[in-house]
Amino acid sequence: MHYSRLVEVYEKLEATTKRLAQTHIISEFLKTISSEDLGTTVLLIEGRVFPRGDQREIGIASKMMLKAISVASGESKERINSEWKKTGDLGTVSYNLIKKKKQATLGSSELTIKKVLKNLRGLVTIEGLGSVDKKIQLVAELLTSAKPSEAKYIVRTILDDMRIGVGEGTIRDSIAWAFFGSKMDVRYNKDENKIEIEDREKYNKYVGAVQRAYDLTNDFAPVAEAAKKHGMKGLEEIEMEIGIPIKVMLALKVEDISEGFKRCGKPAEFEFKYDGMRMQIHKDDNKVKIFTRRLENVTEQFPEVVESVKKHVGEKKVVLDSEAVGFSKKTGKYLPFQNISQRIKRKYDIHKLASELPVELNVFDIINYKGKSVVNMPFVDRKKILKKIIKEDKKSIVLAKSITTDDEKIVQKFYNDAIDAGNEGLMVKKLDAPYKPGARVGFMCKLKSEQEPLDLVIVKAEWGEGKRSKWLSSFTLACIDEEGKFLEVGKASTGLKEKREEGLSFDEMTVILKKLIKKEEGKEVILKPKIVIEVGYEEIQKSPTYGSGYALRFPRVGKLREDKSAEEITTLSMIETAYNKQKKK
Ligand code: AMP
Repeated sequence: MHYSRLVEVYEKLEATTKRLAQTHIISEFLKTISSEDLGTTVLLIEGRVFPRGDQREIGIASKMMLKAISVASGESKERINSEWKKTGDLGTVSYNLIKKKKQATLGSSELTIKKVLKNLRGLVTIEGLGSVDKKIQLVAELLTSAKPSEAKYIVRTILDDMRIGVGEGTIRDSIAWAFFGSKMDVRYNKDENKIEIEDREKYNKYVGAVQRAYDLTNDFAPVAEAAKKHGMKGLEEIEMEIGIPIKVMLALKVEDISEGFKRCGKPAEFEFKYDGMRMQIHKDDNKVKIFTRRLENVTEQFPEVVESVKKHVGEKKVVLDSEAVGFSKKTGKYLPFQNISQRIKRKYDIHKLASELPVELNVFDIINYKGKSVVNMPFVDRKKILKKIIKEDKKSIVLAKSITTDDEKIVQKFYNDAIDAGNEGLMVKKLDAPYKPGARVGFMCKLKSEQEPLDLVIVKAEWGEGKRSKWLSSFTLACIDEEGKFLEVGKASTGLKEKREEGLSFDEMTVILKKLIKKEEGKEVILKPKIVIEVGYEEIQKSPTYGSGYALRFPRVGKLREDKSAEEITTLSMIETAYNKQKKK
């Protein structure tokens, strides 16, 4: 299929922000795609070159792209830079400049979606000496053979900045509409931008089947293919693959023990809430892989965990959910997450660091048993399997400490034990619940006492004044709404340190954020929303100043949350809940 057909769809999607309209556009398009092209199409609509959970990255940032556009268009870097400043989007810049050039030269051959994807993936394999120049050359060649509008979206795909606002929910629904539309009796009413559904239950069944298949693969391409080829049966037959991470189940916050019981039923299971890092562990015989909650592969960084899983997990094929907690070698006591966080990114002296900052694995769930997903099995039964297959070994691998009870007093005592042992509080778990990947549905809840900091993403920053003029020193923070849109909640300029030795510093933050600059407007820079930080505050207030409708009083920048992606930050509804609670007090 020609890439230009996909580009037409991108343009239509970009022209509307309405979710249903986008779903309609994509689903109508998917109906026309051959089986052979369907996977590639779905991936590219998402603006992806690799599926989620695939670690490979193209590794081309804006500065390199600027050079490639210069080579392709024959314009100077300065000119491109100034156009970029004006539009804030290198995609649009390449559109304008390549259009100008193309008028002078003759038309080019048609690009296919397969060729575009192949070329973009090829960029990953270029490594070593001279790789930067080679990458620039390859991108330039691709842009030269593209039409102007194609160049625009190729550039945006490479920069991972599509600007068409299509979220996972939209893709999921589009697949359901495309391949089950008539079965589930859904009609899109364009004039009123709403859908007409005959039978809500039937509709949910099909959308749910697409969601389930996606949950287990983390990739819409095989899901769409199965739906097209084999319908519902195809979706049901999709299994997770050991070695490919799936999203982790998320926790809902509850205020007290009785709310915990209300959410999870009586009796419920209570477990220590360890302050460590989430690890999803895939074991396939002697091969062990470790993924973070962001699905990053950190196997190499945690050799001792690999060893203890090999040694103490008595089953060939399993996927476990767990929390790795750092502990002091001297006292044996648990250490806060911050202490081991440096292990996540470390590329050298790994064994030395592992012996200085060891972790203990606390396993609390199982996702796959003997090669089959057990996400639909009730939690109690999953726990029984865990007890059977894990041979506990203190300070290496253990089951999360737990009790099952319906008695608040017993929970209170258990809560105190958890805090005394250096943990954050308790988790509450619903005994008959399935495992819901990526969802915060209240099958597991967290019970912590203190007011929790928010996890917010930095969307803008401002250069400082005087001695801080080399640093980005004020940060505009945003939460996320149900649709995946980032909404501002305030600006923070305190909490960072002047010197690196003292903790997270302005200088360090500037280095991190500079790579994410999309546009500069005077002193202010607009950033790609990628960096998540913990933000403490005194109070939440209603405010017309920010898009969220709320503002934080005295926000302070806390630590970087490298383990969280921007999609996982504090939601608008969480802020609303916190605001209402605060009002009650
Ligand atoms: P939070 O990050 O505050 O939303 O709390 C949820 C996190 O607590 C999970 O993502 C896990 O990383 C962590 N956690 C610690 N202990 C447990 C446990 N026993 N069960 C589930 N999650 C746990």
